[in-house]
Amino acid sequence: MPESRSSMAPDTSHRARIIDGRATAARVRAEVARQVAVLAGRHGVTPGLAVILVGADPASKIYVRNKGKQTREAGMRSFETLLPASVAQAELLDNIARLNADTAVHGILVQLPLPRQIDELAIIDALAPHKDVDGFSMINTGLLAARSSGMVPCTPLGCLLLLKEYVGALSGQRALVVGRSNLVGKPMMQLLLREHCTVTVAHSRTRDLAEECRRADILIAAIGKPGLIKGDWIRPGATVIDVGINRISVPSPDGPREKLAGDVDFDTAVHVAGAITPVPGGVGPMTIACLLKNTVIAACAQNHIDPGSLSG
Ligand code: NDP
Repeated sequence: MPESRSSMAPDTSHRARIIDGRATAARVRAEVARQVAVLAGRHGVTPGLAVILVGADPASKIYVRNKGKQTREAGMRSFETLLPASVAQAELLDNIARLNADTAVHGILVQLPLPRQIDELAIIDALAPHKDVDGFSMINTGLLAARSSGMVPCTPLGCLLLLKEYVGALSGQRALVVGRSNLVGKPMMQLLLREHCTVTVAHSRTRDLAEECRRADILIAAIGKPGLIKGDWIRPGATVIDVGINRISVPSPDGPREKLAGDVDFDTAVHVAGAITPVPGGVGPMTIACLLKNTVIAACAQNHIDPGSLSG
């Protein structure tokens, strides 16, 4: 009887191509900066991105600071609204209404998660759909599903750009998305369908996740469980996009230290996959780059400019 795959030793002489999200994100940002310069020079429009941060979560603060820095580096205007964790829903809604009406603001992002007293869905749906650069509102979710248009959520869009660069033609490929969240899994499924992939979506009730993974030419992991997907679950030569960002504790000579880990067990997967994103340095940098890209698209739409006319 042939040896079962799970007991087979990985071929350590094989190493997957590493998908360099930092390099792709830098190229996306450079293109955004070029388009921003054309928008300003030719049309007198400077795209503006407003971020609302509620509370003082250290990770969110760093993320918001990075967004502001990259927004300014691309030549856009950056606006920040910082509100206390105790903020009332009505006050948050007032801030959104102010930004919705501000013509210098083309994109608005509310940093998630929000404190418990706030109805997150009501806040997201209060964003003017044409300024919802995260693409999470009901209108944009519906547009992506039914019309293949509207604002596309940044993380799945970043994954798609990486796939297009590293795989090329996606039509007919068998794709598995592990995770069905509104923020990542479901929009990822829609984008892959739009590219004519045959898409399966797995989640915590999926019966045999390993077997589902083994069928996939393209495997997207958006779970939030460090190292859940093992190398021997992966189809040899498959392209693996690891969205997961998990903080884990690892031993070091100076005591335990924190590091970031993805949802895929990189050390075993790298010997089976054809191409794989590292964590960090894979999907993460693409998210902010796509946010800037969406802000340019929003600024164009609000000024009746064809984004295609900004191409080099
Ligand atoms: P959610 O917690 O909202 O969704 C997780 C999904 O994984 C759910 O659909 C859940 O299934 C599924 N799941 C959980 N456990 C299992 C399991 N054992 N087997 C199969 N499926 C499982 O997370 P998000 O979608 O928001 O984020 C996913 C990961 O991506 C996180 O690590 C997050 O930090 C990261 N992330 C990274 C970003 C980036 O910029 N790189 C941006 C956004 C997120 P069910 O629906 O049944 O509960």
